[in-house]
Amino acid sequence: MKYVSTRGGLAGASFANVLLDGLAPDGGLVIPESYPSIESALGGLVGADYPEVAFGVLRMFIDEMSDADLRAVVNDTYRPGIFTGEGVIPVERIGDRWLMGLSSGPTLAFKDVAMQLLGRLFDFELTRQDRQIMVLGATSGDTGSAAEQAMIGRSRVSVVMLSPYGKMTPFQAAQMYSIDEANIVNLAVEGVFDECQDIVKALNADAQFKAAHNIGAVNSINWGRVLAQIVYYVWAWLRVGAKADTEIDVTVPTGNFGNVFAGWVAKKMGVPIRRLVVACNENNVLDEFFTTGRYVVRATEDVVTTSSPSMDIAKASNFERFIFDLLDRDAETTASVFSGLSPDAPYVVDPDVLAGTGFVSGTSTEADRMATIAGVYTDHGRLIDTHTADGWHVASQHIDHGVPMVCLETALPAKFSAAIERATGVVPPRPPGFEGIEDRPQHFTVIPPTTGAVRSHIEALNGTA
Ligand SMILES: *Cc1c(COP(=O)(O)O)cnc(C)c1O
Repeated sequence: MKYVSTRGGLAGASFANVLLDGLAPDGGLVIPESYPSIESALGGLVGADYPEVAFGVLRMFIDEMSDADLRAVVNDTYRPGIFTGEGVIPVERIGDRWLMGLSSGPTLAFKDVAMQLLGRLFDFELTRQDRQIMVLGATSGDTGSAAEQAMIGRSRVSVVMLSPYGKMTPFQAAQMYSIDEANIVNLAVEGVFDECQDIVKALNADAQFKAAHNIGAVNSINWGRVLAQIVYYVWAWLRVGAKADTEIDVTVPTGNFGNVFAGWVAKKMGVPIRRLVVACNENNVLDEFFTTGRYVVRATEDVVTTSSPSMDIAKASNFERFIFDLLDRDAETTASVFSGLSPDAPYVVDPDVLAGTGFVSGTSTEADRMATIAGVYTDHGRLIDTHTADGWHVASQHIDHGVPMVCLETALPAKFSAAIERATGVVPPRPPGFEGIEDRPQHFTVIPPTTGAVRSHIEALNGTA
């Protein structure tokens, strides 16, 4: 499998070439040259366990690892010691739908599914190349802790993570800031997530700086993360659709469009997915797009802070990959669309074109989240987190009883306990090991929301200031 850029400035790259980088050199996103078909392999995967399915899918996208090496990485990642859910990724029936539990990893959010794999793939590749890397990332709350947990103890990797100061839940902040490891640095930026993400993009666009500091990325634009996420869409069909030989619908709580984009790739590979339901919170640029055909990015100051903060995003950074596909992989047009986007210059497509993609969408508000969390608790005795609730609410508008609906559980309620308590009066239980996490000493530096501030910090870390 070879990889290209959505903007045309990269061709013939291997998985190893693209694994350690976020953006392609031309500012576009890395994407496979074409999507392999999984159709003929699906039958053979019915009944396989999660690591076996993961191996089968990853094998189609990674050429330069041997079967034995890839299997070792996959088996070490997707095991009970890392993911405590039954069968790694449990899929359970709740009322009129299915819930796929992606949050039983070390940081209690779905980001672990990809990040734990990435940490191990990084180790493998850096050892092979005898290199070191500094992972520069931005988080709205869950990516940061997942990346840091995945990189702890990896001597070839250091992490510099930008987070929006004061915008995460106390639990999320404690998950990151209580880490006390020489290779993990937390920068608390006085701004919102989009500003953190813009700083990371700006530094990544500076080729000289990037090379001087061996900068790599684990943000949701990293292809390795998308790849790891494709696996559980295959898994969802194997668990829910295979026996009845039916298509499935999947609802995905969406922020950066990374998770649901993986669903799109799975569908393009031939996994029988009929609809992908994009669920937004109040920051619903993507719902607007899928219902009207108009993609109007919002200004950073128009991002609404909600109780599903991992979806509080103005510009969905993975969206460019989907538009590239929608434009029949016309890199020139993709480049012009994405270099010219602003709140005053929307990108518009014919809604008929979108109708053929299988994407539908919806928005969930604070009132919807609260009512959904309370309702699911009353009806099924089950606590769900705020993001999962956004998905659940939007899924309810799209359930079609001939086709099973799979909702993705993207985090555990313990991460967002104030909101869960507000909705139900119940404090969600914490898994073992997380008691009193907010009271542990914290390690972070507060910085202004400027590229210069982050640049200076990295130079100081590397002794080049
Ligand atoms: C990151 C995150 C999302 C959004 O995922 P994207 O891949 O950015 O669309 C949704 N829910 C939770 C809990 C998250 O951590």
